[in-house]
Amino acid sequence: MLKYLIIPLADDSVSFCHYERGNKSDRLIDMETLKNAIFWAMTENLNVQFVYPDKEIPSAYKAIVETIDHAKIVGSHCEDKVLTDEADIVVFDGWNDLDTFKCQSGKSYVVRTDKADLFDNADVIKSLFPKLDRLVVVITDIDKFQESDFQKYEALLNAMIPIIKEEYGKGHSLHFNLLTDRMFLDKMNNCNAGDETITLAPDGKFYICPAFYLDGSKTVGDPVTGLDIKNRQLYRLDHAPICRKCDAWQCRRCVWLNRKTTLEVNTPGHEQCVVAHIERNASRRLLDEIRTLGEFLPEKEIKEIDYLDPFEIIKQ
Ligand code: SF4
Repeated sequence: MLKYLIIPLADDSVSFCHYERGNKSDRLIDMETLKNAIFWAMTENLNVQFVYPDKEIPSAYKAIVETIDHAKIVGSHCEDKVLTDEADIVVFDGWNDLDTFKCQSGKSYVVRTDKADLFDNADVIKSLFPKLDRLVVVITDIDKFQESDFQKYEALLNAMIPIIKEEYGKGHSLHFNLLTDRMFLDKMNNCNAGDETITLAPDGKFYICPAFYLDGSKTVGDPVTGLDIKNRQLYRLDHAPICRKCDAWQCRRCVWLNRKTTLEVNTPGHEQCVVAHIERNASRRLLDEIRTLGEFLPEKEIKEIDYLDPFEIIKQ
């Protein structure tokens, strides 16, 4: 069932996920289309997320946006500083500006990084934990991970565990998606693009997610004629034969990455699975560590497993 509508307000709206930001045009969504999209979201009872470009949008657009409850996703380089202050989610491309940016408590900060920059910035990440309440790291080249990267990734997450434990010891319930999300989950909590989330792009058409719009994929309808997703069941967890048996519940289960790596939206690539399982197993170790401080999530159990790619188990 649909729950969320993502509306990138321009072709070059900030990317908050694995895909690269659009760079071919700075076209804004048409104002009538925006009004229709908001009306459609109201009739479908959807939560709306507006994704902003770095250039300030005209005040007429701001007035339309404010006609519906919504979340704002804004880039750290947005010209509109009032908007950046009001944003629910601020997105950084890389680690460079984070030490000087004035972070606010209660807000989510997303950092898009490739694996090389991630491995080089372990100290920056550690230094952020006392300052932020929610840090979301999105690795933009997961599909390029190799065996040596998996080992570096595991070492990086292990090095974060004592620092996060220290924060919890101080009463700071920090959320760091790569390590703490899995501790709190009872079931799959994925992106669910095409099932629970749909995107209305600046061309006035629906797409599975902003990445599908930017890579030239086919539209899946518009607010006037409605949604038309071919083989819609393939976007659901119950039609993802590997993922539905998996307990790396924090995994994004990115259908765009799936299609890029396996040509099937419901079949993940090896790299996405191994990365998610390294996170899952590190979360297990973090949970054990925090419990040495006192009672913490007593009903939660993350089982010990001896595989990193569920496909290997299914093959047997
Ligand atoms: S780790 Fe792999 S199998 Fe598990 S949810 Fe993620 S993509 Fe699916």
